[in-house]
Amino acid sequence: MKKLSRKTARFVIVCLAIFAALMGLAALTQNMVFFMAGLVTGVFGLMIRSSKIRCPHCGELKMIKMMDILKWSEEIHFECPTCGGIIEYDDK
Ligand SMILES: [Zn+2]
Repeated sequence: MKKLSRKTARFVIVCLAIFAALMGLAALTQNMVFFMAGLVTGVFGLMIRSSKIRCPHCGELKMIKMMDILKWSEEIHFECPTCGGIIEYDDK
């Protein structure tokens, strides 16, 4: 059975963490370079999230909430309301 890639989900978490760190740095130093780099990293992370973190069965995107992606090693397990497929990570 197809599952969500944990690696990809972690990649998104890392992107968002870097985004937050760079935004913090930008606010502290008033440096536009940090701001732009943070923005690019954040947008990149969200692009990966919306292109890769989908229901592995039908491609439904909205059902998988940001909260589910932000769990570094916790399990998720629920039925996709669109296709009834089980959504879980592949690291079991
Ligand atoms: Zn589905």
